[in-house]
Amino acid sequence: MKRTFDISAVLIASVLFSSAVAAQQSMSDWPQHSRERPVAPIVTPGAPALPVPPPSDAIVLFDGTSLAKWEDSKGAPAKWKLIGGGAMEVAPGTGRIQTHDGFGDAQLHVEWMSPNPPKGKDQDRGNSGVFLMGKFEVQVLDSYDNITYADGQAASIYGQYPPLVNVSRKPGEWQSYDIVFHRPHFDAAGKLTKPARFTVFHNGVLVQDDVEPVGPTANMRRPPYEAGPDRLPLGLQDHEHPVRFRNIWIRDLEKH
Ligand code: MG
Repeated sequence: MKRTFDISAVLIASVLFSSAVAAQQSMSDWPQHSRERPVAPIVTPGAPALPVPPPSDAIVLFDGTSLAKWEDSKGAPAKWKLIGGGAMEVAPGTGRIQTHDGFGDAQLHVEWMSPNPPKGKDQDRGNSGVFLMGKFEVQVLDSYDNITYADGQAASIYGQYPPLVNVSRKPGEWQSYDIVFHRPHFDAAGKLTKPARFTVFHNGVLVQDDVEPVGPTANMRRPPYEAGPDRLPLGLQDHEHPVRFRNIWIRDLEKH
C-alpha cells in the first residue's frame, strides 16, 4: 500500500515537473527566432510603483545626474543624452554604453521607457537591451501591441528564452526589470562547469524563472560559452531607437 502511494506521488511530481519545465525550458524544440513559437500571454501589471529606491548596499549606476559611471565600448565618455527627470536617452548611432566597473553575480534594477509615440514595428520598435557581463541580453523592446518573434520580445533572454508572460506597459510609461544574474563558471582548462543563470521580473511579475542561457545571446545564432573574466561591464544597447533609462542600481552578490 505504501509503495503504491510512493509511486503515485512520484508520478504526480513528474507530471507537475514536466509541465513546469514545458512552460519555459523547451528552447531546443524551437529554431531560433521562430515565428511559430508561441508568444508570451499578456498580463496587465499592477499599478505603477516606480521609481524603486536603491537599498543601502546597492551601487547606484545611474541616478539621473551624470553618466560618470558609464563609457562607450572604446572607453571614451558615454555619449547618450541626459534628458532631465532623472533619465537618459539613447543617442541613436553613438553605440552601446557600458559601466566602467565589471560585475559577475548581481541583482540589478533598471527602469526604462519605450519611445512615445511609438515608431516602427516588430524588432524595429523601441529596441534596446540590458547586457549582463556585456554578453547576455535581457531584451528591451516596445512589446505593447507589437508582434515579434517570441524569443525577441521584451524580457526575453534574447534569441533563447521568451518571457513567461508579456507584462509590457504602454510606450511613454516607465517599466522595470529586476534581474538576478549568476555568471558562468569555467575550470582551469577553460571548460564550462556551470552555465549562467537568469531570474527576471518585469514590472514586478516573474518572467524568467532561473533559466540557463546556452551561451552568450546573439542575433541569428547561439554561440557557445567561452572562458573569460569573472567580472565584465554591464552594457546598454544602442539599437538606433531613443529608448530612455533611469534609476539603475546593482547589488554585487559576490561581495556578500
Ligand atoms: Mg535589443
